[in-house]
Amino acid sequence: MKTHTRQKFVVGNWKMHTTALEAEKLARGVIDGLGVADDLTIILCPPFPYLALVGGVLEGSRVALGAQNMYPEAEGAFTGEVSPTMLLDLGCRYVILGHSERRHKLGESDHFTNQKVVCAVAAELDVILCVGETLKQRQAKQTEAVLDRQLSTGLAGVAGEALSRLSIAYEPVWAIGNEEHHASPQQAHDAHLLIRRQLSRICGETWAQKLPVQYGGSVQPENASAFLSQPGVDGVLIGGASLKAEEFLAIIHAAIAEPLANSRRSKVLDVA
Ligand code: PEP
Repeated sequence: MKTHTRQKFVVGNWKMHTTALEAEKLARGVIDGLGVADDLTIILCPPFPYLALVGGVLEGSRVALGAQNMYPEAEGAFTGEVSPTMLLDLGCRYVILGHSERRHKLGESDHFTNQKVVCAVAAELDVILCVGETLKQRQAKQTEAVLDRQLSTGLAGVAGEALSRLSIAYEPVWAIGNEEHHASPQQAHDAHLLIRRQLSRICGETWAQKLPVQYGGSVQPENASAFLSQPGVDGVLIGGASLKAEEFLAIIHAAIAEPLANSRRSKVLDVA
């Protein structure tokens, strides 16, 4: 019987929100409200223009800086784009790739997402690869096929130790920023199990057990524990609730309080 302890995440995706002043205040509010150190990985992903500003506030704290996207080239004639080299230069350690808003609002394909993943990992950025089905796809019982396609294509060409730079975020598109449709903790649990089975096929069982899989989709202080207590849910990716320091901190404290490293987790982690 072999067990792995996976990294546990709380990630704030600020999307296209905040002014410079608000970004600075929000980042300060988060670090000022953090309690004692533990093994939780906390990441703030502000908009590109505020990365340097927020990076300055986070310096010396236990909160890491992440970007919301990048272009898959080190440099060149790509007007308006931002390279992995630039992100590293600004102090980013993480980058979110394949977010559903990039896939569905900006039409980015699985293949383009994969180019970003390969490029980011080669540049030594840690990647949070988002996957998730739309409501229509779920209703048409295509969830499994969609996740399989997004994972297989998204991770193509990433193997061996490069996989240690990866974590997955399961974000059902219909549950993101949505007051009407919330995923239940059970639905999150089932999708995470499915993802881990697919990861096993794509990367092998050892990596499937090592890769953290986060949940994202309207996570709030009130429901964070219910998601975080599900076996196989290794953290949460937060949009709306990361824009208020007190809400984001409440979710962080829920993650710290959740003893998922022990019994419930080992159920998922046991490898025969
Ligand atoms: C997200 O942006 O990835 C997200 C999960 O947003 P929200 O928490 O607002 O649903």
